[in-house]
Amino acid sequence: MAGNKIEPDKPMFDPDSWGLTKQQTDLTALARKLGQEKFAGRAEKWDREAIFPMANYKDLHKSGLLGICIPKKYKGLGADQKTYALTAAEIGRYCGATALTWNMHVASCLWTGSLADDLPMSREQRKNHNRRRGIHYERILKKGAIYAQPFSEGGAAAAGFRPFGTLATKVEGGWLINGKKIFASLAGSADYYGVLCTEDKEILSRKDTMYFGIPANATGITIEGDWDPLGMRGTVSRNLIFENVFVPEDAALMPKGIYFEAVVRWPHMFTSLTPSYMGIAQAAYDFTVNYLRGEVEGTPPVKRRMYPTKQHAVAEMRIMLEQTKAVWFQMLNDAKPNPSKDEVLRAYVAQYTVMENSNELAQLAIRTCGGQSILKSLPLERLYRDSRCGGLMLPWTSELCIDKLGRECLYERGEEDD
Ligand SMILES: Cc1cc2nc3c(=O)[nH]c(=O)nc-3n(C[C@H](O)[C@H](O)[C@H](O)COP(=O)(O)OP(=O)(O)OC[C@H]3O[C@@H](n4cnc5c(N)ncnc54)[C@H](O)[C@@H]3O)c2cc1C
Repeated sequence: MAGNKIEPDKPMFDPDSWGLTKQQTDLTALARKLGQEKFAGRAEKWDREAIFPMANYKDLHKSGLLGICIPKKYKGLGADQKTYALTAAEIGRYCGATALTWNMHVASCLWTGSLADDLPMSREQRKNHNRRRGIHYERILKKGAIYAQPFSEGGAAAAGFRPFGTLATKVEGGWLINGKKIFASLAGSADYYGVLCTEDKEILSRKDTMYFGIPANATGITIEGDWDPLGMRGTVSRNLIFENVFVPEDAALMPKGIYFEAVVRWPHMFTSLTPSYMGIAQAAYDFTVNYLRGEVEGTPPVKRRMYPTKQHAVAEMRIMLEQTKAVWFQMLNDAKPNPSKDEVLRAYVAQYTVMENSNELAQLAIRTCGGQSILKSLPLERLYRDSRCGGLMLPWTSELCIDKLGRECLYERGEEDD
């Protein structure tokens, strides 16, 4: 929060203390500046009206951040998952909906970029992939194209238990897409929908998952349903219907089967939803400190910091925040192909911790700051509502993290009870 201070906000992760690289230091500083100077002031409007933060996307494009995970050889910034996550967390401090929707866009570059480079492909697949992703990256860098990432369907597919029900049927020159996606953030605002679907065969298999970049204006796409949710209102996550939508071969963002390989070999790909909520956790803590010091813009300069109960509450919040940041940062260090079992377990722990603690910190902030802090003219009640959405995001909801963690702590792969 900027508060009354004119000086820039401090980094969430001090570059010296946390050993950030030069690129991480520069990109997090850029995101913080954009967030503090531009996004923070606009966030209330997107939330109140439940509209997509398009003005922020113009700034993200201008600053090069739309191409953060586009590999350098394609003229992007070439950030890896950790660098992206640290940058996105800084954006999440100021506008959760921008950070969360930016994640959907960035995933289309991270998955097709450094992540795909780590996965085995035949020479022919690699050649086609490199050519196709070049088309995709050029649209983003030159035209500012924005990508959405609709994969949820309301059933077990997005949870990772079944093949996607949205089907791709092979036809001359390309594919016909049919199906329905729910909660498609950026619906109506994205230029392309990065759709996960299954090749239409007699027996559907998760191994035949396909990933297409479908132009938002393609014939056969409709957007349905209204959008008036509790939090993350600026994501505008409405439903998408695909009815005989034709896409050419080159719309494939990954060769067939490679998304499934990524799920198996690169599980940290699913932690990319956490940075928005890590940023919200920091923002809830910062707001509390500023508020108790009587330094929040738009509130009387009344200090409340001298009360022992408030000091205890802030101490508890600081402990929770530091614990959350520590496990999250270590999880980012672990992110790589074929992580060890302990690294995967820690990824579940980190996902759960960030998603649940961001909401816990926001609720502690409200209790500690008191009644006047929940006015809609202040960001705290929005942080509280936005933070509640984190644990609901598939495939690694808080519940599913607990399920996986408990089982995998007790069983080795292939082990069964008699
Ligand atoms: C603000 C916001 C933005 C979003 N943006 C996107 C987006 O851009 N793209 C996208 O694809 N999705 C998005 N989502 C959707 C999100 O990832 C989930 O898919 C969605 O919240 C699931 O809602 P549901 O009511 O179907 O969940 P649930 O009913 O909880 O889960 C759906 C299915 O998953 C399985 N499942 C869930 N929990 C368990 C469990 N504990 N054990 C076993 N099976 C389980 C079940 O089959 C269940 O029917 C967004 C959600 C929110 C809140």
